[in-house]
Amino acid sequence: MTLPESIRFVERDWLSANHILFRDDDGATIVDTGYVKFAETTLARVDQALEAWNCPLVRIVNTHIHSDHIGGNLALQQSHPGASLAIPAAEEAMLQAWDLPEQMLSYADQHANRFAWDRTIEPGEHLRLGGETWEVIATPGHDMGSIVLYCQRRRILISADALWENGFGFVVPRAIDPKPLAAQRATFKRLTELDVALVIPGHGRMFTDFTGSLKRASEKLEAFAQDDMKIARNVVKGMFIYSMMWRGQLERSALTEYVGSVGVHRDYNALFFRMSDDAFADWLLAEALRADKVRVAGNFLYSTSNVTP
Ligand SMILES: [Zn+2]
Repeated sequence: MTLPESIRFVERDWLSANHILFRDDDGATIVDTGYVKFAETTLARVDQALEAWNCPLVRIVNTHIHSDHIGGNLALQQSHPGASLAIPAAEEAMLQAWDLPEQMLSYADQHANRFAWDRTIEPGEHLRLGGETWEVIATPGHDMGSIVLYCQRRRILISADALWENGFGFVVPRAIDPKPLAAQRATFKRLTELDVALVIPGHGRMFTDFTGSLKRASEKLEAFAQDDMKIARNVVKGMFIYSMMWRGQLERSALTEYVGSVGVHRDYNALFFRMSDDAFADWLLAEALRADKVRVAGNFLYSTSNVTP
């Protein structure tokens, strides 16, 4: 299934969320803007589309406020001052507070530039993008304020981190907060009501097996629901691997101090693992090595993930 001329999918990687670009009479829209470290790439990919379409960027939309979806916001606003920026209404308080642990920025050793927004988007609202009508659907869970966009006429779902081909964005353990897991379950239930032929996810390639992906994601969620420790391991491993992706490398001898200083590792270790910082650092590294996401050479750890520069 191919996208209409007025819609472009820009696949990035697991560090920067994918972009979706739309062309309308008044100009172009981008949904989600990647991670801050590679904002230059985001700008270049957007400019490519704007050149091909011969139109200005007029709108920036964020599905949620994690670092990999908002990282290019400020750079895009600066290089396209005519563009307005919209965030989900349910994210406004969190953005005003900026960098609360729930946003997983400095708390998880991630970064983003603070930015201003012009409007909020409410679930149930309909957006005109790429000549099509998109329903805004609330998909709390992975992020409690997250939205997805659904085009009934073309049967396309822009699913952000609510649903990937093989999974979904992390949810936090119930001991931290019981609401996200229950909300994610309700989100999957809500999504099953949709008639979808093509999913454009926040990470990974586009895919057509919507029913299969929902089934796999639901099974994964129910396995998590059985075991808070499994969730806790998933979160700290995911955050460590993510940090390694944007850092590229880390001194092996600095890892103990690192896990003691980064909020998510310090707090989750205290609450779930109850190891010394040394032992926790060793375990985390062993897990990342086992998953082939990190390699050791001399006194350095290197990320093995390919991120698009
Ligand atoms: Zn996310």
